[in-house]
Amino acid sequence: MAPDQTGHLHARITDKRDDLIALTQDLVRIPTLNPPGDCYRDICEFIQTRLSASGFDCKLIRAHDTPGDSEKYPRWNIIARREGNRPGACVHFNSHTDVVEVGQGWTTDPFGGEVKDGKIYGRGTCDMKGGLATSIIAAEAFLEICSDFAGAIEISGTADEETGGYGGVAYLSEQGYFNPERVQHVIIPEPLQKDRICLGHRGVWWAEIETHGEIAHGSMPFLGDCAVRHMGAVLHEMEQSLYPALAAKHTEMPVVPVGARNSTMNINSFHGGQAEPAPDFTGLPSACVPDRARMIIDRRYLIEESEDEVRGEIRDVLEKVKLERENFSYDLREMWSVSPTMTEKDAPVVESVAKSIGSVLGKAPEYVVSPGTYDQKHIDRIGKLKNCIAYGPGLLELAHKPDEYIGIDDMVDSAKVMGQTLIDLLKPE
Ligand SMILES: [Zn+2]
Repeated sequence: MAPDQTGHLHARITDKRDDLIALTQDLVRIPTLNPPGDCYRDICEFIQTRLSASGFDCKLIRAHDTPGDSEKYPRWNIIARREGNRPGACVHFNSHTDVVEVGQGWTTDPFGGEVKDGKIYGRGTCDMKGGLATSIIAAEAFLEICSDFAGAIEISGTADEETGGYGGVAYLSEQGYFNPERVQHVIIPEPLQKDRICLGHRGVWWAEIETHGEIAHGSMPFLGDCAVRHMGAVLHEMEQSLYPALAAKHTEMPVVPVGARNSTMNINSFHGGQAEPAPDFTGLPSACVPDRARMIIDRRYLIEESEDEVRGEIRDVLEKVKLERENFSYDLREMWSVSPTMTEKDAPVVESVAKSIGSVLGKAPEYVVSPGTYDQKHIDRIGKLKNCIAYGPGLLELAHKPDEYIGIDDMVDSAKVMGQTLIDLLKPE
């Protein structure tokens, strides 16, 4: 590597600051709300126009027949690839293009991309159109400085991360786009902060528990059997035995925030008895004993635990209640699961980004693991590609909040880290 390439690259990225701001604003102004999955084609075409001009071959790929895909809301993705002139590794930047609903409490236009005090405001600035723009600027600056490089650069914009990624990275992984034969390094510019490398995430296990009863008149509950009281016994047993057991499990994974270094379980929802009346209904409910109750649990688990263990703990709770209560019966329906994943600290992409952070920011990176999952799960499990991290600008705490923003200086610094990583991995001469 010529010693002055890094200096040139940094200067070039500094010069592109206004371009980076404008690009982020343009992306934010395309309201790719998910659900339902709006404007996916528009954003893919926008990225196509941009990257074609920078010499990338662009492919728009629709994830036909994946959840949510329809003629009205087609699941479009883009993969852009620029080949080097010599054989070598492919570095892939993967960003999701969808954003979550706007919600209440905004003081700026959520799709305006307003710039104020060194920040760009809008839904998706931080999660993660700012990261997408940063990777594009990094790649373009790299290509201007280092036209002769080995391997390839890919940039993808993918659908549906916020709803599981089935019409996005999962689909592309199934189609072979994340096969280690064609892609060797993956960086997902999710907002984990410019000085952190996210190695992976905890596991997920969702299930629905249903307890059964018998309907009867509410004035004579002894003639029926109350499913909500049965569920109450389940909750009680969870409080007595399960929650303390989960709190006692600690992980070696460097999860942030620190509260998520234990096993956790959220009660996602609870329902028993009659459906809630419509808001315009002014009458009373009828007097009935509820004959079923349902609860959805959201269990997040650690790399030291197995899915069997997680499932077994819930079964144990239910079986214990069954022994103690007359007429207790239940169903347990598993809904969704994702294994924990964590890339090794000495994986090539981790070491390269760590070196770049050291050189750009003058400090060692913090290695973290995400409490929740993101698209790395599909790249790992379906694509079988282990050399993958999340690295990008922005503060995770701002994701999905009102007045979401991204700091412009953070994006510029991250672009330098990404660009320098390209120099390191693609070995230009
Ligand atoms: Zn995200």
